[in-house]
Amino acid sequence: MKKYEKPYKFVNGIWQLVESMGVHLVEYTDVTGVSDGNGRLLIATSKGDFQADKVLYTTGYETPPVGKRVGANINRSYVIVTKPIAQSPIWHENALIWETKNPYLYLRTTVDNRIIVGGLDEEQAEVPHSDKLIIKRCDQLKKQAQALFPDLPIEIEFSYCATFGDSIDGLPFIGEHPTKKNHYYLLGYGGNGTVCSMLGSKILAELMTGKVHPDAHIVQPKRTSSLIKDGKTVIN
Ligand SMILES: Cc1cc2nc3c(=O)[nH]c(=O)nc-3n(C[C@H](O)[C@H](O)[C@H](O)COP(=O)(O)OP(=O)(O)OC[C@H]3O[C@@H](n4cnc5c(N)ncnc54)[C@H](O)[C@@H]3O)c2cc1C
Repeated sequence: MKKYEKPYKFVNGIWQLVESMGVHLVEYTDVTGVSDGNGRLLIATSKGDFQADKVLYTTGYETPPVGKRVGANINRSYVIVTKPIAQSPIWHENALIWETKNPYLYLRTTVDNRIIVGGLDEEQAEVPHSDKLIIKRCDQLKKQAQALFPDLPIEIEFSYCATFGDSIDGLPFIGEHPTKKNHYYLLGYGGNGTVCSMLGSKILAELMTGKVHPDAHIVQPKRTSSLIKDGKTVIN
């Protein structure tokens, strides 16, 4: 198996595990709305309606079907992945390189000796609809990487653009909606979003079964911030 096929295998492994635990998974389905009805939540989807006692929104940087997310800025970010580089290590200890000026630039290596270069963030909450801009920006990323390492043969094999979000206080949104009972969120932000997913699953497993988690108050969606006007909560 090629190295970059491992995330696919990982996701399939999770899929098989949760199915073996009795979870019913429905793929290729858009949730278009969630409403209250007769004490249960009615979930409208592109494949028909469902009912549930509780709903957990794990919609990433996309807009959740219920609740306004005012405490986060959603941008878009560009990435290139080079062809494998012959020399190893590619640079000193293949260290992660993060240039902190704004817009930032980061470079890191992969297990099959490629370079991932990312950056050139733009204040747009959706990716470009044409490949032309993506190719242009990714060419800029290549030039920036080449300027840092003029002797490396940097050739693009993959390039893409994705939305990327940061919450205004640097924390994820994990927990129940401030006023809508039984609507829960697990929205990780920033460059460590996958860590938030793990943390959030532990906190939510407690909250959704009526227990208390000692860290839940830190990331709860009902927190406020001096950066939000009118004392609104980060999700409202
Ligand atoms: C360029 C880039 C680099 C990153 N680098 C890192 C990194 O180095 N380390 C790190 O930890 N994190 C990184 N992140 C962040 C990380 O990818 C995210 O935090 C993580 O993927 C979030 O996982 P998630 O499951 O919460 O959401 P996602 O993986 O975004 O999944 C959300 C899913 O919900 C689906 N969805 C949305 N709305 C609906 C709807 N209405 N109905 C049905 N489905 C819906 C979407 O289609 C999607 O499949 C990076 C992100 C980007 C874009």
